[in-house]
Amino acid sequence: MIVIMKPSATMSQVSAVIGLIEEKGYRVHLSEGEERTIVGIIGSGAPINKDPIQLLPGVDRVVPVGKPFKLASREFHPDDTHFPIGNVMIGGHGLAIMAGPCSVESRSQIIETAYAVKEAGAHILRGGAFKPRSSPYSFQGMGEEGLRYMKEASELTGLPIITEVMEPALVPLVCEYADILQIGARNMQNYALLHAVGRSQHPVLLKRGMSSLMEEWLMCAEYILSHGNTRVMLCERGIRTFEKYTRNTFDINAIPVAKHLSHLPVIADPSHATGKWEYVGAAARAAVAAGADGLIIEVHPEPEKAMSDGAQSLKPEKFAALVLEMKAIAQAVGRDIEVSNKVLA
Ligand code: PEP
Ligand code: MN
Repeated sequence: MIVIMKPSATMSQVSAVIGLIEEKGYRVHLSEGEERTIVGIIGSGAPINKDPIQLLPGVDRVVPVGKPFKLASREFHPDDTHFPIGNVMIGGHGLAIMAGPCSVESRSQIIETAYAVKEAGAHILRGGAFKPRSSPYSFQGMGEEGLRYMKEASELTGLPIITEVMEPALVPLVCEYADILQIGARNMQNYALLHAVGRSQHPVLLKRGMSSLMEEWLMCAEYILSHGNTRVMLCERGIRTFEKYTRNTFDINAIPVAKHLSHLPVIADPSHATGKWEYVGAAARAAVAAGADGLIIEVHPEPEKAMSDGAQSLKPEKFAALVLEMKAIAQAVGRDIEVSNKVLA
């Protein structure tokens, strides 16, 4: 259940509501919106009767949230969530563009790519240092050395960084370097990891598992939110279907559905969704039209030499052209993509 306070409710009225809920053995989760405060009732205490809460001064209404995910639900937080990462706003009017290589491969590779994606209009640099590879014999990432190179690239270009974390014990280390923690598709339901990134209070991008239902995905977001970490993004990166021609099937439906069910920003990953650079542009443009709040796109200066995911990586020039196409589509659907990051020659 959630308690929606009146816009005029005072702090002491909110405190009285919290007191009554806690008396029954429940925890509360406060969401202080621009207009009003919403009190979420969490946990399982003695049966709770909504009438006495409804009668408290300052309460507008008490709404049962029918979904198993509460904090992630639209009912709990009717407005879209938005939050800044450095000077980039995630959610809201402008789309956030994250770009960079699948893996950090060397200092020069990540720095060169960082400048190139910034010049093309990207706002955030991506790059994997700890890589979840299907084969134990494939390149596993540069580890902390890769994180150091990413940080240097970030300092040189001013772009915040997103990188994947794969195990709870490494969360503190990755937090030292990264602005956003990426939870990969293979780890979506790694609950120990979800608890750890939730506790970190660091921004998180939660990829959808390759065979996950919408509800399973949102329940994983709930794990992170349940620690009071509200800076969570959902990322649709394609799901596994019978079709093999593309690496995954881009579930375009997931974008409006996630935005309908949840207030969290939704990011699209057309690179993993298609697996072939030729189709990345089409999927990216479709994602913008479908209402995505941002994109994460793999870009490599020499895709043919990439140590992972070269087949789906765009060259910087192709990425730059795509940003302009996406901007035009964003504007056609009442949004925009700020490209003032452009490095001026
Ligand atoms: C990645 O972003 O490089 C990656 C491994 O993504 P996913 O978890 O979506 O496969
Ligand atoms: Mn990749």
